[in-house]
Amino acid sequence: MRDVRPPAADGGEVDEDTVNDGAVARFHALRDAIRTAAAQVASAGRLDAVHAETLNDFSRRVPAAPQLVQNDAGEWVRRMHATGPSTDIALAAIASDATELFSGVRAAQLRACTGPNCPLFFLQDRPRRHWCSPGCGTRARAAAAYSRRTAGRRPTPAAG
Ligand SMILES: [Zn+2]
Repeated sequence: MRDVRPPAADGGEVDEDTVNDGAVARFHALRDAIRTAAAQVASAGRLDAVHAETLNDFSRRVPAAPQLVQNDAGEWVRRMHATGPSTDIALAAIASDATELFSGVRAAQLRACTGPNCPLFFLQDRPRRHWCSPGCGTRARAAAAYSRRTAGRRPTPAAG
């Protein structure tokens, strides 16, 4: 198994046994659930209840409560304090961020990148934005230009 060790909630090291194959499978399941939900929101503009429940299930696996803590500048800031296995805390934090994305005004901005073979999503902050990054935009424009240049040419004869 690959060495996958996220930092512990308190910033210390995690026991190697903490991230086992079961934890990796749960991370993959959450990743797949978020990807499916993102695709659905980006294309249909809404989320099915079954996907919402999957994210809710991951999100509520650990009890969490807001706490006031001082940062390095001595300012009081709000932080969530969660208890439980570190992997469950990480999964719950990721799922919680996803529920925020899929429930707010940003859900209406969520789009799938139209770049060639790009699996990513992005928030459309400008009406004419169609790509996740400038690199994807460049690849898409180059592919369109190549397609226009080769559209009128006869196909090359097959070898043999
Ligand atoms: Zn892209």
